[in-house]
Amino acid sequence: MSKVLITILSFCSLFLIAQSPDLILYNGKVFTAESADKNITAIAIQNGKILRIGSDTILKLQGPKSKLIDLGGKFCMPGLIEGHGHMEGLGESLTSINLLGIKTWQDAISSVNAKIPSLGTGEWLEGRGWHQEKWDKLPELNYGGYPVHNEISKVSPNNPVLLYHASGHALLANAKAMELAKIDRKTQDPPGGKIIKDQNGEPTGIFEENAMELFSSVLLKESAKQNDDTRYKMWQKRIEVAQDACLKTGITSFHDAGVSVSKLSNYKTLADNDGLKIRMWVMIYDTLNKIRSISNRLPIIGYHENFLTIRAIKQYIDGALGSYGAWLLKPYTDKAGFKGQNVLNLYSLKEFADFAFSKNLQLCVHAIGDKGNQEVLNLYESVFRRDPKNTDHRWRIEHAQHVSTKDIPRFGKLGVIASMQAIHCTSDAPFVAKRLGDARAKSGSYAWRSLLDSGAKLANGTDTPVEKINPFECIYAAVTRKRIDNGMEFYSEQKMTREESLLSYTLWNAYAGFEEDIKGSIKPGKLADIIVTDTDLLNCDEEKIPQTKVLMTILDGKIVYQQNN
Ligand SMILES: [Zn+2]
Repeated sequence: MSKVLITILSFCSLFLIAQSPDLILYNGKVFTAESADKNITAIAIQNGKILRIGSDTILKLQGPKSKLIDLGGKFCMPGLIEGHGHMEGLGESLTSINLLGIKTWQDAISSVNAKIPSLGTGEWLEGRGWHQEKWDKLPELNYGGYPVHNEISKVSPNNPVLLYHASGHALLANAKAMELAKIDRKTQDPPGGKIIKDQNGEPTGIFEENAMELFSSVLLKESAKQNDDTRYKMWQKRIEVAQDACLKTGITSFHDAGVSVSKLSNYKTLADNDGLKIRMWVMIYDTLNKIRSISNRLPIIGYHENFLTIRAIKQYIDGALGSYGAWLLKPYTDKAGFKGQNVLNLYSLKEFADFAFSKNLQLCVHAIGDKGNQEVLNLYESVFRRDPKNTDHRWRIEHAQHVSTKDIPRFGKLGVIASMQAIHCTSDAPFVAKRLGDARAKSGSYAWRSLLDSGAKLANGTDTPVEKINPFECIYAAVTRKRIDNGMEFYSEQKMTREESLLSYTLWNAYAGFEEDIKGSIKPGKLADIIVTDTDLLNCDEEKIPQTKVLMTILDGKIVYQQNN
């Protein structure tokens, strides 16, 4: 053999080693989320990216250092993307009092009572997740179904307590918390908020919407007592706990629906220290002045190997349906003459829109009621008109829960993303028709079929910690519109297909963040974020979907979670 040929050959084998995959998954049932790919059983991964997909013949690409994993015929799909959640809130809910799923108000009192001995003198206690409409029975003493503070004040006379409603749009405070916040019978409702008072004019402890902010300054004072380092460490702990919970359920990317300017730098520090275990896509939620103060650093796209993207602003136009905060075109069916709350006036909202448009940032406005949705669509339409050539803004409406039938086609027409949470539909099912009446609920509530059919792009998620982070319960809600506990079905004509439900947690959420080129499907060149489940989510019996367990989560080409059998 000539020297030249030997050199060429050894060069080739070096090249092959350099090109050989780090990891090959084979013998799987792969849902790629790309419609053209059928009968894919194997995925080769290199340097955190997908190198090749195909049949098990891909195994021939293996080099001396390739790790091989036999999937044993299991289902495999792109890593899930949570389309709207609150990472810190999730961490908080996992580390503090969690009242999601309690059956009576007495359960909440017992949880507080059990926690008191572990608290320091005067230490604040916060919890969240209670929802009076989901209890087996209402407390004897209640105002419009809401509990009152008396019992909590009795079990916690010295520690201030704030228990947030599952919707995040109301809270219950005990007497100590109200005393520290200087709230009494003379305190007036702030604009866009309501203090529920009893027949004698005394606060019952319930604060709706903007009235919750009456506690902000006393909470701020409390947190000012800690130094920056302690505060950062507490935040980091919450993020860590939340990220672990995500990986366990197959979530590899997370749209964080509202992070303050000061906490954006926490995320950046965490990314710099390799502390982000999930890819974060962040909406900034702060005053316009604060956002403007960092405007020369925006947007941040694909920071630290695509672990951090900050390219959107979050705002709210109304509240939640459960707490009568959703802003409606016509009054609530079960609250005469009341049409809900507009929590940010349209002029101020327009200022956010002007800023977002000028900086090429996405705007994501929370809108639940049909009036709220209509006003946001009107605003988006008027802003987009300034640059008719650009039709790809991907501004979003977060929740889009109740939309007037005539506004449904406007989502598709304007390219506005309906960022919905399928699990909210079944979770809220017991009270939606009460609030809206049957006709409104049927035509426009959680109307994802009508939205999709009229050309809208959807995103899906859980709004965790408003709901559990579990994506499979949400996917089940998307395809069945049935509650898991009692099978109650909510207007089944609006179901998604099985494939749509999987796309709604992968490629569609990637699209909703301008990231469909790098994630959301299993395609050569994309990030190697992949999960393996114990259930074939495309073909299994639908009742099996919510019990699905993740066997393995791969992120950036590395195994980051594995179920230990
Ligand atoms: Zn949210």
